Amino acid sequence: MLTLTDHFGRSIHDLRISITDRCNYKCVYCRTGTNGAAYAELPFDDYLRMARILVGLGITKIRLTGGEPLLRKGIVQFVRDLTQLRTTEGKKPEIALTTNGHLLAEIAQALKDAGLDRITISMDAVDPERFARITRVPNGYESVLAGVRASRRAGLDPVKINCVLLRGFNEDQIIPFGMFAREERVVVRFIEFMPLEEDRVWTPEIVVTLDEIVRRMSEYLPLQEIAHERSETARRYRFADGVGEIGIIAPVSHPFCGHCSRIRITSDGRLRTCLFSVWDHDLHELMRRGAADEELVEFIVRVVENKEERHHIGEPGFVPASRTMVHIGG
Ligand code: SAM
Repeated sequence: MLTLTDHFGRSIHDLRISITDRCNYKCVYCRTGTNGAAYAELPFDDYLRMARILVGLGITKIRLTGGEPLLRKGIVQFVRDLTQLRTTEGKKPEIALTTNGHLLAEIAQALKDAGLDRITISMDAVDPERFARITRVPNGYESVLAGVRASRRAGLDPVKINCVLLRGFNEDQIIPFGMFAREERVVVRFIEFMPLEEDRVWTPEIVVTLDEIVRRMSEYLPLQEIAHERSETARRYRFADGVGEIGIIAPVSHPFCGHCSRIRITSDGRLRTCLFSVWDHDLHELMRRGAADEELVEFIVRVVENKEERHHIGEPGFVPASRTMVHIGG
């Protein structure tokens, strides 16, 4: 059976599909605050065909993202359709969603009922004023908090919260997020800031690293590291009293490219083999020209074989990715 393996022997089983590059937030570290969508959106049937073919090639997890995926009407039905796919082992693929949570409270239960397995909600502060300064949208905090709680009520367990820390901006939120994890019974995961923003403001000094986060959080309460699987991107820690978990995703200070198992499809149907790819591969163009499934399979297998070995963040001669995060799908 054909499966997806690259030249470095990594087996690919995680797929992220961006279903729009529009976003209702203008987070200071992600967007310029002026631009809207830059790329097309495809009908859901086109993403579904791509997903079906990729699941037939060994994909077992599909994460929907954007832009802000909840801006797309029809997402509930799309989740339902994805649950009908079967992996090469005959199972339902795991379906996950990454969202800013702004529109989530209304739709969390419907997503769960449609077959969504997991949800990750992005929050970069746990106080309303700071939240508004980061997102550049007034009164978002209450909506997102309502989305977090609605997700838990709907049984999307565990709810994960993604937080990007920027030095001098929200690094003082580390301990408040530790408290939040314990009070709201969510898993908070800090992500090191990567050079993928529209404004190109990244410097190594802005990155708040894994070691710093662990050190700072331990001043609040002792942490115990939880054993994690090799392909897991997050280092996981529980508070020593057993209440609450945090994770740290450290692509900058502790890169995990050697066991990367991901590929991505952008909202306009391009295949990307790395967040930092300097080119992408137009799968949708082939579909538009009427390619049969076999041709698409051949194309995908060839593209994935050539997946980049690793990113080069912080190295001399680093070449920025051909798209920024919001237009790739985080
Ligand atoms: N709108 C959705 C959301 O807010 O979760 C999905 C897209 S967003 C681009 C996905 C995640 O990428 C968010 O958690 C965001 O904080 C994170 N992100 C954006 N730019 C980033 C960067 N330069 N480095 C690390 N994470 C970033």
